[in-house]
Amino acid sequence: MTDIYDGIRDIKKYALDNNVPIMVDEGIDYLTSFIVKKQINSVLEVGTAIGYSAIMMVLANPNLKITSIERDKDRYLEAVKNIKKFNLEDRITLVFNDAFNVNLSDKFDLIFFDAAKGQNIRFFEKFERNLKNNGFIITDNISFHGLTEKDESEIASRNVRGLVRKIKAYIDFLKANDEYAVSFLNIGDGLAIAEKK
Ligand code: SAM
Repeated sequence: MTDIYDGIRDIKKYALDNNVPIMVDEGIDYLTSFIVKKQINSVLEVGTAIGYSAIMMVLANPNLKITSIERDKDRYLEAVKNIKKFNLEDRITLVFNDAFNVNLSDKFDLIFFDAAKGQNIRFFEKFERNLKNNGFIITDNISFHGLTEKDESEIASRNVRGLVRKIKAYIDFLKANDEYAVSFLNIGDGLAIAEKK
């Protein structure tokens, strides 16, 4: 097995060099502490990229198993390599597909959305059936570099404005959902934690 610290450093460097977005340190620190504190033993992740967050999560809890979905072939193949380097093939199951084409029957303690920021309502509606009772749905990039706290008139790009509108719609969607207790944390790029009541 690769030395853990060297291995993680290499993945982060690859992400930086190849413009692969991965969770920021503050966000991953919170997520891994949450997994330990809540004794999360199963995770469904939507948005593997190159496997960084999946590897960090399983390293935090030796009992944890993850299923993670990625639609980009190059990133998926890089994730396969990284997971093999860490000998974690038996604990991280990678699914190469668009998440909207993936139908799973398993139920998970935690579902983590870190994929297309504008699709979170659809991800939520598709995958909440895979959440155990009293499970959690965590979503990253709720703040989107602080843009969701800004007035639309302050955002120059039309595309970015559209994305911000979708993230705000997701925030409203979560707030209006009585089946979940929701909190929004100003950690990393903004996390939403929805706990099934
Ligand atoms: N969770 C990763 C980490 O922190 O190491 C980062 C994930 S990156 C922010 C988002 C990834 O989601 C991208 O690699 C993108 O290809 C993938 N993605 C976006 N929409 C998707 C979809 N509908 N199905 C599967 N993967 C998707």
